[in-house]
Formats: sequence, structure tokens, C-alpha cells
Amino acid sequence: MAELARKLDVIDTAPAFTLADADALNARFDGVDTLEMLQTLFAENILGEVAVVSSFGTESAVLLDLVARADPSIPVIFVDTLKMFPETLAYREELIARFGFTDSQVVTPKPEVLAEKDESELRWSYDPDGCCAIRKVEPMARAKAGLDSWISGRKAFQSHTRQNIARFEVEDGRLKLNPLGDWVKEDLEAYFEARNLPRHPLEAKGFLSVGCAPCTSPVKPGEDARAGRWRGWDKTECGIHSSGDGESDNSALPPGYEPFL
Ligand code: SF4
Repeated sequence: MAELARKLDVIDTAPAFTLADADALNARFDGVDTLEMLQTLFAENILGEVAVVSSFGTESAVLLDLVARADPSIPVIFVDTLKMFPETLAYREELIARFGFTDSQVVTPKPEVLAEKDESELRWSYDPDGCCAIRKVEPMARAKAGLDSWISGRKAFQSHTRQNIARFEVEDGRLKLNPLGDWVKEDLEAYFEARNLPRHPLEAKGFLSVGCAPCTSPVKPGEDARAGRWRGWDKTECGIHSSGDGESDNSALPPGYEPFL
């Protein structure tokens, strides 16, 4: 952080990233090409211990390609809820190999937590928030524990709940980088074409946003791309990114960890 403070000429008195750091980075990289920004961030070690977190969904190839072009040694973390489509697992292996990432990590839910809180493996059907808490949010918290920063594939256009995403945010003192925060759908499509990137196998079957198998359905023409996620439930996010109502059983989470912040 001291190094970051020097580079950006900001005062760093806290042991972690602050809102002032995020503001300074947003100002410094305003309008800078996404790949150039990533190359600079990695070359100058501005992000500290950093990893890219990917769901290996329908748009993930773009961010992964950009990160690999900037530095393929950046760790790639995948949270396997053990409810994923086999097509997603195969797509992950294909992309990791194609982009030449050298540090691919898979994080799974704790077996003892699943045994206690989802013995039937059907929790998704009656308490999806609780299911996401033990299968996604807790493993993600564990994966991020040693990181100073993480790179997210969030995009503002994805749905009405994801508007106005800044490139740099701070969560719990950790820097969250959204390189595609200002990309529009046309930008992604052009990048897929220009780089000849492989598509998620389920996209051609109408799955425009792919999550866990029990909670993802194809999207009908004219629907929001994420309309197929948790269809029938008043739920749009898994808790990794968003705020929620706190009604779920989050007792599997690390002490002091707020899953929906
Ligand atoms: S998306 Fe569905 S199956 Fe996956 S963790 Fe959340 S509720 Fe469980």
C-alpha cells in the first residue's frame, strides 16, 4: 500500500486499500484502454496479491483473455459449488489451456458444512440464499482471504441491478477491480470476434448467463440476460457482489464476515 500511495501521491495510513485509493485509481485510469490498464497495474505491482475470479460463464472469456495477455501468471480462481453444469467445467479447462494461465485454482464448499446444512443437496430448492451462502459466498471469502485485490468480470449493462460500476471499488479493505465495468454488449461481441474466442457450450442453447445447473434456465427472446438465473425467486445475485435481506442462514461463514456486503 505504501507503494501505491507513492505512485498515486495519496496518503496511506490504513493497512488496506481505502476509498481514496480507489478514487485515485479511477482518476488515473479514466479513459485508459482496458488492456493497457491491466498491463500497467501488473507491471507496477499496484494491486499487491491479486487474482482474477471467474465463473467461466458466457462472457468470461473476454476478461480472461485480457488478463492473460497482460500477465498469464495471475492466479485464476473458480468457485465450484459442486452444482455446476458439466459444460462449464469443460469450458473452464478449455479456456485455462488456451490462455496459458499458470496458476489455476478451484475452491469448493467445505464437506462438513454441506453435510450439516445441505445433507439432501436440495437446499437450492427451498432456500437459495442459504445455499449460495454455503456453496458460493463462504468459499469465495476463503479464496480471497490472502488477497489484497481481486479482479471481477462484472459489467454494468448485465442487468438493472448492475448499473454504474466503477473500475475500482473497495470491499472490506480489499480492492475490487472491474476492468469491464464500462464495456457494453457490443464491445464484448467485437472482442469475441476479434480474438476468435470460444463460446460457452450452453450459450447456443439460450443460456445467456450461466450459473449453477439447478438455478439457471434459458432466456426467452427480449428477456434480460440474467432473467434465467433463479427464475421464480426474488433473487438476482448470489451474494458475492450484492446486498441482500440478511434472511439466510449464514452461520457457515467465517466469524465477522458479512456475506451480503
Ligand atoms: S446458484 Fe443455486 S445451486 Fe448454486 S449456490 Fe446458489 S442456490 Fe445453490
